[in-house]
Amino acid sequence: MSNPSPPKSFLPLDSLFENPVFAGGLGLAGLGAAAALGRRWVIKGASLVKKRLLVDLEISKQDESYQWVLAWLSLPRQEHSGFITSRLTRIHHMSMKTAISKTANGPASAQFMVQSGYGKHIIRYKNAFIQIDREKQSSHNHTTGEPHETVTLTTLYAHREVFRDIFQEAYQLARAAQEGKTIMWTSRGIDWERFGDARRKRPLDSVILDKGIKERIVDDVKDFLGRQKWYVDRGIPYRRGYLLYGPPGSGKSSFIQALAGELDFGVAIINLSERGMQDDKLAHLLTKLPQRTILLLEDADAAFVNRRKADADGYNGATVTFSGLLNALDGVAAGEERIAFLTTNHIDRLDEALIRPGRVDMTVRIGWATRHQAIQIWDRFYGDRDVQSKGRELFLDKLEQLGLIDTADGGLREGATRRYTSTAAIQGLFITNKDDMGGAVEMAEGLIPRIYEP
Ligand code: ADP
Repeated sequence: MSNPSPPKSFLPLDSLFENPVFAGGLGLAGLGAAAALGRRWVIKGASLVKKRLLVDLEISKQDESYQWVLAWLSLPRQEHSGFITSRLTRIHHMSMKTAISKTANGPASAQFMVQSGYGKHIIRYKNAFIQIDREKQSSHNHTTGEPHETVTLTTLYAHREVFRDIFQEAYQLARAAQEGKTIMWTSRGIDWERFGDARRKRPLDSVILDKGIKERIVDDVKDFLGRQKWYVDRGIPYRRGYLLYGPPGSGKSSFIQALAGELDFGVAIINLSERGMQDDKLAHLLTKLPQRTILLLEDADAAFVNRRKADADGYNGATVTFSGLLNALDGVAAGEERIAFLTTNHIDRLDEALIRPGRVDMTVRIGWATRHQAIQIWDRFYGDRDVQSKGRELFLDKLEQLGLIDTADGGLREGATRRYTSTAAIQGLFITNKDDMGGAVEMAEGLIPRIYEP
């Protein structure tokens, strides 16, 4: 029996498979498919390994720790001695941050800080390898228009505890850098932003107010800070407000800054007369006040003026209105405590509705320079070389003649015309005559302001 030969297929497949060119192509395609599959498995496997074995931590630029971590990363290794034990920096791409501090007379100094740049870097810290990925996101901050930024730290899951150590060190470093300094905050859009570098703390005794005023406010604030439980037990919002009023250059802002230094607080400043500072923006800013800050609302009278304007034409959307200010002060506060200082040069525009517990609890006048202040400022400048205070007596005599201060018995010198001058003007006169007491006495007429605004 002869086996019937297999039927010939309709398609010439055999010859096709026998064709070396085709067979080779198929082989290659097969290899390609296998490689693609393999690659997919490798990727899957890698992402599984990554999920299982790695841990990452993302910090947004909005978070306070962002700057601490960048500062920590930028430290050269030798500066870590005794602080960070083993850290091998492998950051090859750096970026520069320059801060120029200005004085009234122009730029004073520039500080440069090298930071880790955008992109990925590897560092080794305490036997753990950590990948640092600093990147700009495609989304933007609505108010400032700046892109969102994040820095992500990735390490082995087994080494996750190094994150805690890094944050602790970065925080200590940030605290050490701010030791003896006062951080100033300002609004940028609806966010708070640090205003320049932290300033050296201003000592309280460098601000000279009339007898007893400083002590009264400082004691009150300290008493308030020690009474949190009292407020909480009674369900009262833990807030205290102060209104300082008086002419410009009397030391209101300087005092608030010095007080913040004394309490180890920062100062968050909002100028109520600033264009674009509207009710909703103010309310929003007050709900997210940075921690441990004194809120300073400058030019509070801007809101009193707007009350009248808003009443007259029914609408005022450009700046803060009086009711907007009250609502913001009464709104939900983010932090635990809130100490607010309002300042104004025009108390006459003040409205009674402001004087409520939590809004304004204490109103203090910081007025024109008094005899007491003139003496104190003189002593601060010339006390060490003014033998038997003779120069000071001459100076006080001159001010009495000009009617700028009262006599030692109180009251106006006979025949003098009542005038006023500011503590800023007296300080300015002494700065001009740093080493020349006689010059200061001679030039005292210059203290008479050309425009009076008693
Ligand atoms: P205000 O806020 O009342 O307008 P500032 O605090 O801004 O006044 O003072 C302006 C400048 O004058 C500051 O440089 C400050 O050092 C100085 N100055 C004004 N008043 C005093 C004061 N009472 N004691 C010390 N310095 C003062």
